[in-house]
Amino acid sequence: MAVFKTLDDVDVHDKRVLIRVDLNVPMQAGEITDTTRIERLKITLDDITQRGGKAILLAHFGRPKGKVVPEMSLRPVAKACSTIFGKHVVFVSPDAVKSDADYVNDMEAGDIVLLENTRFYPGEEHNDIELAQYYAALGDIYVNDAFSAAHRAHASTAAITQFLPAYAGRLMQAELNALSLALSNPKRPVGAVVGGAKVSTKIDLLENLVNKIDVLIIGGGMANTFNAALGADMGDSLQEPAMYDKARAILKAAAANECRVILPSDGKVTAEFAAGAPFEVMPINADTIIPKGKESLDAGDATIRTVVSAFEKLQTLIWNGPFGAFEMPPFDEATIKTAKAAATLTKQGKLVSVAGGGDTVLALNLAGAAAHFTYISTAGGAFLEWMEGKILPGVAALENNAS
Ligand code: ADP
Ligand code: MG
Repeated sequence: MAVFKTLDDVDVHDKRVLIRVDLNVPMQAGEITDTTRIERLKITLDDITQRGGKAILLAHFGRPKGKVVPEMSLRPVAKACSTIFGKHVVFVSPDAVKSDADYVNDMEAGDIVLLENTRFYPGEEHNDIELAQYYAALGDIYVNDAFSAAHRAHASTAAITQFLPAYAGRLMQAELNALSLALSNPKRPVGAVVGGAKVSTKIDLLENLVNKIDVLIIGGGMANTFNAALGADMGDSLQEPAMYDKARAILKAAAANECRVILPSDGKVTAEFAAGAPFEVMPINADTIIPKGKESLDAGDATIRTVVSAFEKLQTLIWNGPFGAFEMPPFDEATIKTAKAAATLTKQGKLVSVAGGGDTVLALNLAGAAAHFTYISTAGGAFLEWMEGKILPGVAALENNAS
């Protein structure tokens, strides 16, 4: 279990609280298209401001690569923050007249300011000590609430903890607790769905999981590679012949670790990569031959039944990657049906379910399952790296700071 300090361990009253947050919201033509990331921060901000802390927000936006890029200013984000937090958020852009420190000195208990994009400074992505000291001088304590940025050792996520006492914000705390519940300290048996497009992007994940979990359920395009490695002719299905050896090695490691592997035993095979395309369900095993010009875009009913009955025997489920090309019905069926089953088991208190990954979150939302999962991580790269067993510098910095 990770050891880190939280907002429960500090009196923030009248303190200048530097909070690293994720405000990297999607934006089109200067308009924010999805404010989820801002909404999620509200609990941390409310907690700090209601207790009389002065909240100083640090965040990156886009990839300005150490230069001032006006289109990547956080100014429009400050406006959205004011609306969502229900409190004016002062945007701070240091200039000849007023410095960051001047703005901070003007703050009263409960105020919120947002500093300009951390990545305008070249030192941010270099985990630069001087930049960390510059930021640290603006605060009395440091709170990291940006799990999604924790897989990078940057000045505002890592080096800064050398100069200020560091705490996990409420979101970071929730994320770390959920991930520990899923992988570090799960109720067993624990299983994982690993699906999606390619084995090559998820090798580290598969290798780590087979060492830790009891059941590995492989789906999606990557399952084609596994089935082909076992002898099936997958026709024109998405697959990676260069990964056959790797796939067999992962199956071997799973067997050595007594991790049961479930591969799709049937597939929805079509000649057309399109929504609504006609398909036939074909069994998939070592003798299967999918004709040239046809591809498997989703798992079939037999696979869905096997997966759901495997879910019923689990106490904990980790999910990353869809079972098929879920963007195109009817090839969303296996993903939707199994997601609904996991949601129901979770709702009944029989399963702890934790999911993450860009397309996975989309798919679980489509299935109407996301709300019932125990935890949905929106952290993308950081979620994957955690599941791969890697040390996240931003998390390690909090842990070191706690000891
Ligand atoms: P995540 O973003 O959740 O980590 P991935 O990016 O690895 O997931 O995979 C998602 C993509 O995989 C989706 O675009 C989906 O259409 C695709 N996919 C899944 N199964 C298949 C398949 N059998 N054939 C082609 N594409 C597939
Ligand atoms: Mg993806």
